[in-house]
Amino acid sequence: MPVPTIPTNFQPFSTTPRISQRHTPATATTISLSLGISQHHSPGNRLSNSQLHSPSTSAPRYNLSPAVSSGGTTTQQHLQATHNTTTTSQHLHQSTTHTTPAPSPSTSTATPTTSSTSQHISQAPSISQYPAHSRYNTAQFYRMAEGIMTKAFIKGSWVEGSGGTFPVTDPATGEEIAKVADCTVQDVNTAIEAASVATETWRLKSVKERAAVLLKVREELLKDKERIATLLTRENGKPLGESMGEVGFAASFFEWFAEEARRQYGETIPSAVPTKRMITIRQPVGVAALITPWNFPIGMIGRKVSAALAAGCTCIIKPAEDTPLTALAFVRACERAGVPAGVVNVVPCSRARVQEVGAALCDSPKVQILSFTGSTGVGQWLYSRCGSTMKKISMELGGNAPFIVFPTAKLDQAIPGAMASKFRNTGQTCVTANRIFVHESIHDAFVSGLEAAMTKELKMGRGLEAGVTQGPIINQRQYDRLDKMVKESVAAGATVVRGGMSCGGLFYPPTLLTGVKPNMPIAQQEIFGPVAAILKFKTEEEVIRLANTTDRGLAGYFYSNDLGQVWRVAEALEVGMVGVNEPMVSTCEAPFGGFKLSGFGKEGSKHGLDEYSNLKYICFGI
Ligand code: ADP
Repeated sequence: MPVPTIPTNFQPFSTTPRISQRHTPATATTISLSLGISQHHSPGNRLSNSQLHSPSTSAPRYNLSPAVSSGGTTTQQHLQATHNTTTTSQHLHQSTTHTTPAPSPSTSTATPTTSSTSQHISQAPSISQYPAHSRYNTAQFYRMAEGIMTKAFIKGSWVEGSGGTFPVTDPATGEEIAKVADCTVQDVNTAIEAASVATETWRLKSVKERAAVLLKVREELLKDKERIATLLTRENGKPLGESMGEVGFAASFFEWFAEEARRQYGETIPSAVPTKRMITIRQPVGVAALITPWNFPIGMIGRKVSAALAAGCTCIIKPAEDTPLTALAFVRACERAGVPAGVVNVVPCSRARVQEVGAALCDSPKVQILSFTGSTGVGQWLYSRCGSTMKKISMELGGNAPFIVFPTAKLDQAIPGAMASKFRNTGQTCVTANRIFVHESIHDAFVSGLEAAMTKELKMGRGLEAGVTQGPIINQRQYDRLDKMVKESVAAGATVVRGGMSCGGLFYPPTLLTGVKPNMPIAQQEIFGPVAAILKFKTEEEVIRLANTTDRGLAGYFYSNDLGQVWRVAEALEVGMVGVNEPMVSTCEAPFGGFKLSGFGKEGSKHGLDEYSNLKYICFGI
């Protein structure tokens, strides 16, 4: 790994980890699921570092038991975006320290050898290149993490936040890993001013000059990929292989938009009268405010910043409070790449300040575009708040994707597809399969195949451990929301085939629910967790109606080998993106974005560049 230059103002991680105050102390309650198992439930009790690393700890809540790899092909090429993955499997099983009867240990979840080529997220290296265990144990991580940025970056300088700092924690352990600058409205206004001044020079650079800077950013991201990915896994919890893929994904947009910027053509318009000539040109919008989520902490930033910079805009990034360190590492790569001062600024802030910081970005007439990725509720609030300044807006909001399996589907495609769509990032993606509709004729075969794949391929644990595919839920708020949704759906009649109960800390087990009805919370809301909800259907007409009976319209997937049906269903689904016999649709070359309450505007593709430019018409009298 290349050793990055360490700037003077970095704050190394604390070497005395503390448990964050964010975490609710364990409170044991007993829940009954439809399987009839009475289960001890401790939502606030996280796995500690030592519990995760030391199977022999005297009274751990869970043991991590190494198991032996076996041969076979899995869906891990999708889940981890790795090449030639060989993993050692571990599985979580309940200890006998419960005060209420514990279920029997889970069956082995040995992860077989995977030999695959990642088609979807670029160039993630093989997990097998790493030693099987703990290359990134805590001590090594701290050494590796030296130079991690924790301050805000405004006008080319790393600065304190006027609001002090806020803690960032590892969701797998609850350990505080850094304190980050808490920016206030005052800091945001300084950043807006800096971006506004920088626009005047950045917009005048030739597209070739801008493209050269973008390519340099890509290079810096890829050079620092391993370190950024490790950081991402620490603060987000996702498996390291996925984090590596995500850094590559972010970098791919810099290459794409460096190329696209040079092809942002205008038009000549044939004139109806001989005395006029008409053309259009594209011009940068100006200052872009970019508010980003925690589930893809660098992917979403990379996708927005690359397009903004390519178009000639400058930007202010407001990263999610759960994952600011990755955003700061990203900006450090921009700094090393020679992005001029003021062109990229980042203003992290605590959850307590997001509303005032968001309002400042919306209200400023100097901000000409707001691009947001996050929940629909927040998106609606930001949208209405931008009315007074009439700025351009791009919204990537929540989804409720249907995943339909028709009778002609090949189950050996549909089941790996469902695994990849559902369990990537522990189900915490807006394009994940939210409602899995399976035709009644193949329902039972699909369910048993999916259950077998889940048992065989999914391994829960800390994202830095080799072979882990399922990390923790990001925070207690999201965890409680998920837990409530499952409990309410079970109470309403859904059947738990697998999982469905708390496993301590923020770890939620991969869960399979059948008998789900369209009116249950699990079908109506965005799940954002590792829960596969299966609904049965009879006819194409019925399933299209059900699939579209939602106010969300981000992604939709279906598996069918009936050519006529493929066309009909692809056209009928009210979503911005359709995967036909394909679970992974997001790539720099294609337009990402939704319909209905899933938002508007496109990211990636040639259309992504247009979001950050104004179309100007010029008429010449001759
Ligand atoms: P989630 O519920 O998954 O955390 P959010 O939509 O709340 O999703 O968060 C996505 C991003 O929006 C984060 O960067 C978060 O800080 C930010 N955010 C949340 N509320 C507001 C708000 N009122 N104004 C501006 N940004 C906000």
